[in-house]
Amino acid sequence: MSIRIDILTIHPDLLTGPFSHSILKRAQTKGIAEIHIHNIRDFAINKHKSVDDAPFGGGAGMVMMIEPVALCIEHLKSQRQYDEIIYMSPDGELLDQKIANKLSLSKNLIILCGHYKGIDERIREHFITKEISIGNYVLSGGELPAAVLVDAVIRLIPGVLNDETSALSDSFQDSLLAPPVYTRPAEFRGIIVPDVLLSGNAAEIEKWRQEKSLERTKERRPDLLDNS
Ligand code: SAH
Repeated sequence: MSIRIDILTIHPDLLTGPFSHSILKRAQTKGIAEIHIHNIRDFAINKHKSVDDAPFGGGAGMVMMIEPVALCIEHLKSQRQYDEIIYMSPDGELLDQKIANKLSLSKNLIILCGHYKGIDERIREHFITKEISIGNYVLSGGELPAAVLVDAVIRLIPGVLNDETSALSDSFQDSLLAPPVYTRPAEFRGIIVPDVLLSGNAAEIEKWRQEKSLERTKERRPDLLDNS
């Protein structure tokens, strides 16, 4: 299984870092994920290469213009079929593990990053199929939200994480938070790790982890238990 993600931005440099290290880099090296970053400015139609303009009706801030974004999306759509054309937006559907799971089954995705006051509404109405927010706060651009979404999606694809079961034992996958984790040394300045983890008894360890998961969820996120 592999996924192709095309990201549309007016600040491509903001996106090169997140995808060139660690797990997201490995996913690309292994051929499991292809990430293509497109500079919307390359599709600007006037001689100044403008990608934004003042809002009709007046008011503060600039608005991303319809033509460059529309041309860029059309260019991509003429080459392959996309499962979703996503706009990162604070008024979109709130990103959660369920959305990430679903998107990780896609073959081709487009992610559009906004800037300034946002994009011309006609793009949202006529080109976008899904709008996703990463939280109830406003950032200055859609690049960091896009990187968050891409990370959440790609790490779920089989073969990306070394230990195949690892993503399944993360928080939220079964409506439970993950249990606490420890590593060497077993003692640091007299602070020790729970005995059971050193016992070598796999069944006891599993039982302890499930108990801790439940305890932590009840304490921190009882809402997750109500919804499951
Ligand atoms: N005026 C808009 C905010 C624009 S912020 C409003 O009030 O809704 C500029 C861009 O940053 C947006 O177009 C979007 O792509 C991105 N962005 C900001 N906050 C975001 C969030 N919480 N989730 C996803 N994208 C966000």
